[in-house]
Parts: sequence; C-alpha cells; structure tokens
Amino acid sequence: MKILVINAGSSSLKYQLIDMNGEVLIAKGLCDRIGVPENSNIEHKAGDVKVAKDIPMPTHVEAFEAVIEALTTGEGKVIDDISEISAIGHRVVQGGNLYGESVLIDDKVLADIEQLAELAPLHNPAHALAMRACRKVFGENVPQVATFDTAFHQTMPEKAYMYGIPYEYYEKYAIRRYGAHGTSHRFVSGRLAELLGNKDLRVITCHLGNGCSISAVKNGECVDTSMGLTPLDGFMMGTRSGGLDPSVVTYIMEKDGTSPAEMNSILNKKSGLLGISGVSNDSRDVIAAGEAGNKRAKLAFEMQNYQIGKFVGSYAAAMGGVDAIVFTGGIGENESRARKYIANMTEFLGFTLDDEKNAIRGKEIEISTPDSKVKVWVIPTNEELLIARDTLAIVSK
Ligand code: ADP
Repeated sequence: MKILVINAGSSSLKYQLIDMNGEVLIAKGLCDRIGVPENSNIEHKAGDVKVAKDIPMPTHVEAFEAVIEALTTGEGKVIDDISEISAIGHRVVQGGNLYGESVLIDDKVLADIEQLAELAPLHNPAHALAMRACRKVFGENVPQVATFDTAFHQTMPEKAYMYGIPYEYYEKYAIRRYGAHGTSHRFVSGRLAELLGNKDLRVITCHLGNGCSISAVKNGECVDTSMGLTPLDGFMMGTRSGGLDPSVVTYIMEKDGTSPAEMNSILNKKSGLLGISGVSNDSRDVIAAGEAGNKRAKLAFEMQNYQIGKFVGSYAAAMGGVDAIVFTGGIGENESRARKYIANMTEFLGFTLDDEKNAIRGKEIEISTPDSKVKVWVIPTNEELLIARDTLAIVSK
C-alpha cells in the first residue's frame, strides 16, 4: 500500500510518498509560494532524480495537481496513476484537548481543526485548506488521516499542563500546555523501546532543531514537555526565546510601546541563538563564530545548552529518575559539541558518554559507554513514517 504524507503550510506543501510494503520512501518534494502563482514552483525528488519546475499555484488545489503530475509523469515518475495512492496522512500542528491520537478525517474532524485555529492561527487553517483540496483532487473516496503534533502530549497530568494563572483562563480560552513535536517524541521514544526491548522506561527525549523541545516519557507515555500553549515555551531555540519571566514581555511593551504583534515577532523570530549572537539562527554558524572568538556567539551556544541541561535535570526529577536520554533533530542528531555540553552538565544522573561514538553524526547509535547506568542514544527522527504508519493502521481497520 502506498501512502502520501502531507505537511501543509499556508504557502507551502511538503510531501512524501511511502510504500508501506517495507516502509520505503519512493519520492518526496516541496511546493513553494502557493498563492503567488507567478513565483510558485515544485521541487520533486525520486531516488537520485531531481525535478524542479515553475508551475502557477494560486491555491492548494493546483499544488496537489502539480504533485500528482510529478509523481505520474516525466523523469521523476514513480507511479502510473493516482489510484495507486491508497490513503493520505496529514500532519496537523494543533489538536487541542480534542485529539489524543490520529483520526480518520471527516466533516466533524475538519470543523474541529478549523476551530482549533485560535490556538494555531498560522497552521491549522492551512491544514484544513489542504485537506479540502485533497478531497477535490484525489476524490472523496481516498481516505485521509490527521496526525496531531499535540496528540502524544495529551497524557500529561493536569499538574504538568496547567499554568499558574487564574483558572478562568483555562475555562474561557483553554489556555494550558499542549506541547509540540509530539510525533517526533513518540517516534524516538517508541524506537528506543524497540531497540532496548523494553517499554517500561523513564526516557528524556530531546528534539533539538530550529525549534526545540524536550519531553519526559514514562512507560511510553508523555508526562511533561517543554513547549506550551504555543511552540514558544521551553528553552532558547534558533530564533525563539523559550520561556522567560513574563514580566520581561510587559516591561518591553510598556517601555517601547511595542504592539502584541510586534512582541510576538520579537519573541518568535528575532530571539534565541539569533537574538543573542547577532550572527545566525543556525547553530553551525553560531558555534563557528564562537570558536573564532565572537563572545556573544559563544554565550548563545552556552545559554541554549545550559537551559537544555536544566530541563534534563528537572525531567529526571519529574519521573523519579531517568533510564535513557535520546537526542534527535538537526542539532540532536549531528552536533556532538552540544551533546557533550549537555552530558557534562547532567553526568551526575549516572551516565558516561563515549567520546568516539559521540563524534559520529546523523546515525542511530548508542553514545554512552556499555557500563553507563543511563543509556544515551542518538535516534534520527522520522515523523512522516509515523504519520504513514498511523494512516495505514486507521485505514486498515
Ligand atoms: P527544523 O527544526 O527546521 O526541522 P532541523 O531539525 O533541520 O530544523 O535543525 C536545524 C538545526 O540543526 C540548525 O541549527 C542546524 O545548524 C543544525 N544542523 C543541521 N544539520 C547539521 C549538521 N550536519 N551538523 C551540525 N548541525 C546541524
């Protein structure tokens, strides 16, 4: 069975076609600048073949038509006909407290996703648009499944997801911690359980990319996570501030007359590694600048990893100990210096890093020594595969 996995934004659409027979990636690509037809284009990859084409895409409908054309014709052709696509799985950023697992998309689910746009204004409306466009292009009979980034975190207890503000805001606006990157935390914690042959573990999963989050996963269930109502909470990221004294926000707004929209932009786009270093949001540039003597870049690297170390310590406390730590995401999978910093800071928890193994990049590998009490692993994430697996499971029912 072949499943098309979709990650749709308001102006972009990423796709992967996965053959579930052997879980093989057949093709993937990106439609960009949807809504700007004079500039929109598709980049399609099938094995070593790369195809790039400018195609007018006024809406997501034309984007899906371009995807079908790329999959069924020309150099990047991998299937004869769209009827070979049995189901479509969508990544959805926000499922609120309505969805604790993936679901088959029907009118009620679509309406819920649209209604939850209040909590994810940039993402949920785009997901709904893409789902409707899929119905139009692939037909009503091709089943579509939604996999929510927040679903894995729905097992958090109240004490972990509530904020210490008047209770009425939870009742009025459903303000609470929802978390994000749930599909990634679920994938790597599930993969670790498989590798160790044991699900009853206290695991700290560190998804460190441009956006970063850490989860505490006990016996396969998330008990706490660092991202909050939005993906701004937690610790310093590429361009996001992470958690800070909320008074900092009101102080700046009062001093500079900053509007809520401007403040949002400062905290989401101009902070983090970029805001502190003034160099870049990319950890590679920041580390290189720091090593070349740039003090603010060095500080940015230290701040991010110090904050991560503190989260690891606090999640060990949340679970009454820790059996394993997993690193994933662009930084987590590749950046040995970040892992080393975090490991040095939290070594007291009972693990020893194998420096030679830690130097290896981008591979599934245990990087702690064989006698280490706490296991430390690098596990490359694969959210698309998990979406495809959920889709297969739901449509096979
Ligand atoms: P996103 O969160 O946007 O999906 P990624 O997971 O790709 O992004 O993470 C981006 C971060 O990972 C950047 O800070 C980048 O510097 C870092 N990164 C990606 N690849 C490497 C690599 N090969 N070596 C070191 N750092 C890397």
